[in-house]
Amino acid sequence: MQQIIDRFIKYVKIDTQSDPNSDTTPSTKKQWDLAHKLVLDLMEIGMQEVTIDDHAYIMATLPSNIEEDVPVIGFIAHFDTTPDYSGTNVNPKIVEDYDGRDIVLNRKDNMILSPDYFEDLLLYKGQTLITTDGTTLLGADDKAGITEIIEAMQYLIKNPEIKHGKIRIAFTPDEEIGRGAHKFDVEKFGADWAYTMDGSQVGELEYENFNAAGVKIRFTGKSVHPGYAKNKMINTVLLANQFLSLLPKNEVPEKTEGREGFFHFYKMDAQVESTLVEGIVRDHDRDTFEARKALISQIANDFNEKYGKDTVNVEINDQYFNMKEKVEPVMHIVEIAEKAMLELDIKPIIKPIRGGTDGSQLSYMGLPCPNIFAGGHNFHGPYEYIPVESMQKAIDVIVEICKLTALR
Ligand SMILES: [Zn+2]
Repeated sequence: MQQIIDRFIKYVKIDTQSDPNSDTTPSTKKQWDLAHKLVLDLMEIGMQEVTIDDHAYIMATLPSNIEEDVPVIGFIAHFDTTPDYSGTNVNPKIVEDYDGRDIVLNRKDNMILSPDYFEDLLLYKGQTLITTDGTTLLGADDKAGITEIIEAMQYLIKNPEIKHGKIRIAFTPDEEIGRGAHKFDVEKFGADWAYTMDGSQVGELEYENFNAAGVKIRFTGKSVHPGYAKNKMINTVLLANQFLSLLPKNEVPEKTEGREGFFHFYKMDAQVESTLVEGIVRDHDRDTFEARKALISQIANDFNEKYGKDTVNVEINDQYFNMKEKVEPVMHIVEIAEKAMLELDIKPIIKPIRGGTDGSQLSYMGLPCPNIFAGGHNFHGPYEYIPVESMQKAIDVIVEICKLTALR
């Protein structure tokens, strides 16, 4: 257990925040600091074919130790942390034998991690928690995933009596800015399927995510002196509001859950003459997703007929798709993960992700890739924490999946 803690803390102390405003890959130079260290660590534990490319994508192999031909499987994690919260000078705290009460992260700023607010904490009474000091995020997302994959590989190397096929692992930059899969060389990776170790609570197993599109609606009107505007002015501030009011009122993020999709318009830059509205469309179901986009285009057409050609211009860009479409034809890859958990007395929690994952992009690039828990909670902020026992369980799941795949 100490070894897991030491490795995890070593990684979270290295700042790897990514940056959406950068065009390079990795998006920040500092991600190389951890990337180089990971390469050395992989060689040190005895991984083979350890490579890092020009964009800091790291891959390595654990060769098969059986004669039969079994599928090659992969495990993937990302080493960047979110741009939304500081990851500089992460100073983790270790809470041993957690007593179920408030944890003072930082007295000076009165930062308290309390089960009154974060009820999940009570699941971990008696366990060892790693928290922040209240001034940064922790980075368990996804340095827990990195730690778990390396520890699992080391365990398999040290226990060669455990039989497994060829295992490939990969660590990527820039997942938090949606680009983790962009420069991933699926062919070079050469796995039949893989798992991202990037979920939260113990038991989480995900293979459904949103279909996603970004929407920009531009309104072009006519500005005329308001005193003399009759039958002349076209006020796009009002047009934009009218447009949005025609969308289903209950299909918004704050009124939906589970597999319910939504329209979410989050930004409006409005003046009489021109208004730009920005939003997103999300839906698990592909047909409903397409229908949502069609509705926006339909309303735009109606406006152009009524107020004149080019009054409304709609730009819709697909962002990612539900990986379910790619995973369902190969459901055994989910069943293996489920079975691994059940054999370890872990209750699988299978639920649709209300967001996207790198795994969805990878699935559409030809590498089916469900997501498995890494154990952390409250990602992307100062209340992030992770029980060491949950990391151990993730390691066990990885080892068990390797075993089960070799039995096929
Ligand atoms: Zn993550």
